[in-house]
Amino acid sequence: MKLRELALISLLILMVAVGCSSSNQVAIEEAVSATIAAAQPDTVAANATSTPEPGPTDIPSTASEQIPSRIAPGSNRNPVPLTECDVSPLEVLLFVSETVPRNEQKIIEEAICLSKQLYFDRDGTNWQMATPIYVAALDRHNPAGAINLESEFCDYIQEQHPEGWNNGKCGPHHSTTHCETDGICLLTQDDGRVSGSSISSSRHRDGFYLFINNSHDMPQHEPSYWYVALHEMFHIYQISNISNPDISREELARFLGKRAGSDSEIDTPWWMEGTAVYISHYFYSEQKESNWEHIRRQMGRYLTTDYNGSGLGTVLEQYKGSGRQLTDFKYGGDDHQVAYGMGAWFIAYLVNLSGIDKIFEIYSNLEESGGFEDAFIATYGRSHDSYLAEFDLFLDKPESEIMSILPE
Ligand SMILES: [Zn+2]
Repeated sequence: MKLRELALISLLILMVAVGCSSSNQVAIEEAVSATIAAAQPDTVAANATSTPEPGPTDIPSTASEQIPSRIAPGSNRNPVPLTECDVSPLEVLLFVSETVPRNEQKIIEEAICLSKQLYFDRDGTNWQMATPIYVAALDRHNPAGAINLESEFCDYIQEQHPEGWNNGKCGPHHSTTHCETDGICLLTQDDGRVSGSSISSSRHRDGFYLFINNSHDMPQHEPSYWYVALHEMFHIYQISNISNPDISREELARFLGKRAGSDSEIDTPWWMEGTAVYISHYFYSEQKESNWEHIRRQMGRYLTTDYNGSGLGTVLEQYKGSGRQLTDFKYGGDDHQVAYGMGAWFIAYLVNLSGIDKIFEIYSNLEESGGFEDAFIATYGRSHDSYLAEFDLFLDKPESEIMSILPE
C-alpha cells in the first residue's frame, strides 16, 4: 500500500492560485483574478487547456510501478493516477515534479480524497463538470523540475484535449515574450520562480481543471498542504455547479458571485474567495486537527494583523476605514487581503447563523435560481446586501465578540 501512495502524485489544474506569502508560508494568496475561466493567462495562474473525456478513475493496480522515487526529466512517467482513495467518478491525474517527496504527494492525494467526500459526495453534484482534474505537484525550490513538467503536461494535453491545448499556454498562440525561462511559464512565473498554487485552466473552455500545487516546507507547513488543497478543490466544486459548457467568462463570473459589486463589469473575490478561505480552514480544523484552534488562529489574524506585512493596519481596520462595500474590493493590490480576509469573515458570520451546509445549498440552487443574487435569497431568505449591512455593524463589536462566532 505504501508503494501505491507513491504513485499518487498529483496533477490538477485550475485557475485559482494559492501561494505562500512572504511573511508566512501559510497564507493563501490566490493568483490575482486568476479565477476560473479567465481567458487571459494571468500572473500567477497559468492557463491550461483541453477537453477530455473523463477516463476511469479507478486506478490500475499497476500504478505503483509507475512511481519511481525520482522521475528523470523527460522520462514521461507522468501522469500518474491518484491511488490514495477511490475518487470516482472524478478523474484525477497527477503530474509530479521530480523532487517532490512521496510523503508530500501522499498528503496532496489525501487532501483531494477528503475534498471529494466533503464537497462532492452530496446530492446534486454535477460530476460531469467536476472532472477531469490534473494536478501539477511542484517543488517550490526546484524551478527546473517545474519546467520539465511543463513539457510532460503539454504533451498529454495536446493528445487528450487538443482544443484546450490550442487555447492555452501549451498551444501555439501563447506568447512567451515575458517568460524568462526555457519553458513556457505555465508552471513557473515569468521570472522563473515556481508558480503558486492555483486553478489555472477553465473546465468550461478547455475541458479540464489544472490544479497547480506548490510545495510547502515540511514538516512545519504541513497544514498548508492540507488547507491549500481544500481551498483549491472548493473552487473546482464551485465552478462545477455551472453545467453549461458554452457559458461565457462573464456569465460564469456572474453565477459565481464575482459581479455583485457596484461595477458589474469587474470581478471581485469577496464571495468566491471568502467561501474558499473559510471552508478550507473550517474543514481542516474539523477533520485534521479535531479542534478549532487552527481556524481561530487563521481568522484571528485578519482582525489583529495586516496579514502580509503591508503596514496598512489590520485587515479589519483597512476594511472599516475604507468606507467601501465588501463586494467592491478587487483582486490584487491593497484590496486583495481585505477581500479574502473579510470575505472569509462574512462567511463565518453566515455559517454562525445558518450552518455550513447552507454554503453548499446555495451552489446547488445556483442554476435553477437563475443567478447568484437569487440563489442567495432562495437559500438565506434575504439579499446578500441585507446581510452585508448587518455584518458591517457586527464588525463594530469588540474583538472578543467577533471571535465568539467561530467554532470552538
Ligand atoms: Zn481561491
